[in-house]
Amino acid sequence: MSSTSGQTSAQIVGVSFGIISKDEIKKLSVLNVETWKTFDELSHPREGGLCDSAFGPAKRDEMCATCGLSEFDCCGHYGHINLSLPVFNPFLIKQLFQVLKMCCFECHHLLFSPTDLEIKIAQMEALSRGLDIILEDLQAFGSSLTTDNIGLDAVSIRLYVRQKLKEKIDEEYNKRFTKSVKNGLNVKNIVEKQQMVYKEFLTGKLLKPNKKCLQCAALKNSLTVLNNALIIMNESKSKASKKIIGADQIEDMAVMDMTAVRVGYLITGLGAHKLIDAKPLDQLIPVDEFLPVMYDKHTDDMMKHHFPVRNLRALSVYPLLIYPTHYVGDNHYISDTEDSHKTELNANSLHPKHTEL
Ligand SMILES: [Zn+2]
Ligand SMILES: [Zn+2]
Repeated sequence: MSSTSGQTSAQIVGVSFGIISKDEIKKLSVLNVETWKTFDELSHPREGGLCDSAFGPAKRDEMCATCGLSEFDCCGHYGHINLSLPVFNPFLIKQLFQVLKMCCFECHHLLFSPTDLEIKIAQMEALSRGLDIILEDLQAFGSSLTTDNIGLDAVSIRLYVRQKLKEKIDEEYNKRFTKSVKNGLNVKNIVEKQQMVYKEFLTGKLLKPNKKCLQCAALKNSLTVLNNALIIMNESKSKASKKIIGADQIEDMAVMDMTAVRVGYLITGLGAHKLIDAKPLDQLIPVDEFLPVMYDKHTDDMMKHHFPVRNLRALSVYPLLIYPTHYVGDNHYISDTEDSHKTELNANSLHPKHTEL
């Protein structure tokens, strides 16, 4: 048989990995997980939960609801969870943050000079063609190009520089590589250099972004990452004003203080751990007092004294994410905290007996 003769029609020369898109995830998924409850009261897997039989058999005698195979033959299936708010991929947030720091938020161009940018793109192109030894030559050649006499806009300068660099790469390629050498390239060395160039580009070592956009003259915004989950932009006009990148429905945000009226809280996992670490159940105070204590804006030193580590970070957003149905003074307004009476501290109230609770 021809298939046993060892002949192959193609040879694998490389493998590359990427991130699958939202649409691809949905195509691979056999189930949209909609309930956080995995098991029912009798400890059976709930339909639509994380142990749904669509993902594969959970027990020995069961069959997979997707492929119909047993525990031994089914290799398991993917599902997905629809998130109610957009979130950054935690594996990519650092790289995304670096790229955003190089962008103009007004016209969305990169904050580099057209020539510098084209030189770096040409160096990447040279590497992909195996020309790892001409990176410095390209830098020198590109920098020596005179673009003054072009006298046109940044796009025309880029096209001119790009063309000249391309000609240089083609010339070097034809000069250095015969057919036999092309097959014997030091791929490992080239891949290492490519990774180094990408890394240095992302960390800003290769090129420093300009403080002012060359296209539209807008000033560069300063960005910060919060808890590896949010990217926040300080608006250039006022330092107090901030914006969450990616959350278009939020127009404005500010660091919380004690005077702000709070109607609801959204808390990150890290924030929840900070609150638990403060052991609030050992010394109960109302939540509207506890949170300002923990983000260190409470004005009552006695309360603060009981919680020595106050490292919570709190931000307020506008427009509000949730709205109260009734405000103080409205008919049918009920509050768990506003109407409560302060209990004086004494020996008995500090150590109540269970019968008194
Ligand atoms: Zn299966
Ligand atoms: Zn711009």
